[in-house]
Amino acid sequence: MRVSQYHMPTLREAPAEADIPSHRLLLRGGFIRPLSTGVFDFLPLGLRVLRKIENVVREEMDRAGAIEVLLPAMQPREVWEKSGRWESFVPPLFRFQDRGERWYALGPTHEEVMTDLVSRDVGSYKQLPINLYQIQVKFRNEPRPRAGLIRVREFIMKDAYSFDVDRAGLDRSYDGMYDAYVRIFDRLGLPTTVVEAEAGSIGGSDTREFMLLTASGEDTVYMCDECGYKANAECAEVRAAEAVRDRSGHGEPEMVETPGMSTVAAVTEFLGVEGQQLVKTLIYVADEDKLVAALVRGDRDLNEAKLRKAQGAKDVRMATPDEIEKATGGPMGYSGPVGLGDGVLVIADYEIGEMEDFVTGANKADAHLVGVNLGRDFQPRQWADLRMASPGDPCPRCEEGFLAGHRAIELGHIFKLGTKYSEAMGAYIDTEDGSKAPIVMGCYGIGVSRCVAAIVEARGDDNGCVWPLEVAPFGVAVLQVEPDEAATKAAEGIVADLEAAGYEVLWDDRDERAGVKFKDADLIGIPLQVVVGKKLAAEGTVEVRRRKDKAQTLAAPADVVAAIGELAKEA
Ligand SMILES: [Zn+2]
Repeated sequence: MRVSQYHMPTLREAPAEADIPSHRLLLRGGFIRPLSTGVFDFLPLGLRVLRKIENVVREEMDRAGAIEVLLPAMQPREVWEKSGRWESFVPPLFRFQDRGERWYALGPTHEEVMTDLVSRDVGSYKQLPINLYQIQVKFRNEPRPRAGLIRVREFIMKDAYSFDVDRAGLDRSYDGMYDAYVRIFDRLGLPTTVVEAEAGSIGGSDTREFMLLTASGEDTVYMCDECGYKANAECAEVRAAEAVRDRSGHGEPEMVETPGMSTVAAVTEFLGVEGQQLVKTLIYVADEDKLVAALVRGDRDLNEAKLRKAQGAKDVRMATPDEIEKATGGPMGYSGPVGLGDGVLVIADYEIGEMEDFVTGANKADAHLVGVNLGRDFQPRQWADLRMASPGDPCPRCEEGFLAGHRAIELGHIFKLGTKYSEAMGAYIDTEDGSKAPIVMGCYGIGVSRCVAAIVEARGDDNGCVWPLEVAPFGVAVLQVEPDEAATKAAEGIVADLEAAGYEVLWDDRDERAGVKFKDADLIGIPLQVVVGKKLAAEGTVEVRRRKDKAQTLAAPADVVAAIGELAKEA
């Protein structure tokens, strides 16, 4: 491909809105362009990278025994109502009506449609296991798209769904996908870290994320420096604190007026205490039928997923002001554990067990209690790990370690879904013993377009992108920096030789200064470069270079293929 005939609009400067390195380099290199917030065009170079990543993913999925399908992005409301996610999916679905006023969603994921498909075509254990996947466009109604291709509203994803007769089958399918993911990220040149994860909107248990650790990531991963425990911040556990849990010997609590002080910040400032001396009481409703008062230290955040698990609930939500008033007798912002009736289950984060003489709400408008103590004033009915982990927290898996936080980008996610969707969507099979059973499912995603950005984050440098040969838009750039006829002829021959040897070649034949060509070749990150310059006339040689580490050698035009082959081994 001649650059003079190609569409490769590189930019000297990145637009001001580009907020992370990959965003800047992909815009500058002419790989992508924004159409609207969180929605991008893929230009020719970007599309070539995207297609190559897709091919790596496809080859490894096929090798693992998964079978490719293509399901619609436009999905009828009915399948989402069956699973119960029409209203509850987070972020909310992109929804629209057809001319007959029937509702549809633009699919953010395909559990519903895939399970529906299998429920119609699979009726016997003899047809299982099966693993179906697709590489397809997804839509997420993100409130704040950012970071270029990292958090977007429209993106390309590989999603696979395994269907097994039983749990043991699911375990095998899950392990097979795990191994395939390791191979995929290795081929993409992405050093990933596998962490324990929270299932979120998708549902299910036993989930792992494949993360790229990088300062520009927007997720946080906690890792133990001693035992190697690794988990997403959304689910990172904290070791239970040494708990006394009874300080009945202390003095009486005292009610103080706190007019209009319904937040932790207002109360602590007014009383002149630290957040660590206050217990936050958050009133929740579990599965729409149980009132729960969750206690965490004033400077901590409640982790709703942990609360949900501790309650064995499908769902928890914050109580409404009316429900709080009814449950506690006081308005929102003044709840406390002291004197709560049996109708509210008090559950405390382990850390509360270490506290003494603390401040709580008084279940009364404009009032708090100070000098509250466990044992004498109240005793939680349940203790649990309820708070969001924070840096320096004790590791849940070993005795010595502490958790350190790292920024990360999620690239892949594998889940054991179990029977959540097959039960909801009616995907049952006749089993070997003649009974009916729901199919046991797993699901496995990779953010394919996100990987384009992740590779740049992981491997880019100050001069531009550094693609591994496997996914580079072109393998070799031939930079003709002398315009004379001999140079043109030599470049032509080199391009023909390289193409005959199987390389994809970008021939920079533009009427531009050498510096511009060097800069562009580095910016777009072509892994191998051949410079046809002054040395051709003087010595009969051209320079052969590797982008990644600047390794270079001189070769006669006839020997370029061999020289490129040498450098390609490490590209
Ligand atoms: Zn540890």
